[in-house]
Amino acid sequence: MASFLKRYRQRLENRHGWDVPLVCTQCGHDGLPRSEGWTPSASVRFGDRPTIFNDVFCENCGKPLKEEAGTALAAMFSSQPVDTRNRRLLWDMIGLLLVVPAVFLGLIWFGVWHGFWGAWAFSLFGLLGFVFAPVSMWLNYRIHAVRHECPCGQPAYLFMGLLGRASCYRCSSCGRLLKLRD
Ligand SMILES: [Zn+2]
Ligand SMILES: [Zn+2]
Repeated sequence: MASFLKRYRQRLENRHGWDVPLVCTQCGHDGLPRSEGWTPSASVRFGDRPTIFNDVFCENCGKPLKEEAGTALAAMFSSQPVDTRNRRLLWDMIGLLLVVPAVFLGLIWFGVWHGFWGAWAFSLFGLLGFVFAPVSMWLNYRIHAVRHECPCGQPAYLFMGLLGRASCYRCSSCGRLLKLRD
């Protein structure tokens, strides 16, 4: 179990980074920005607006380029659809969230109606919470497995930021873009 949790965390861990050129709005320098790690951001923007965690600066004049990175991220990822396998997994999850409780509730209700068990059985419905925690963990694991493989054979997905609530990744081996929702 411990090793599973470790693997789980590693799967979900993002490699932050920025490796596409940006044009500095202060000095006009066009090139790869200097990267100085990243800062967690509590103010995740909603809608379709970008959130950049990477601390990027102009190589020439040192201007912070977060705004520019946000614009670049939106331009790169706005028309990028969420990964197909990711979407399918989310639909599976929604299906599961609708069907499993409905079937379970149906069974309880059936039993109560026919007098197999008393109305207390409805409290069993609360047990579903215990089922869904591991299910959603498993789902996240599956979703993030997607960015540990790439058609180029050398997956190296950098986490570039969020667009709305979708995570935007770019494979630094081949430049493939990947948009994930979890
Ligand atoms: Zn500059
Ligand atoms: Zn690749």
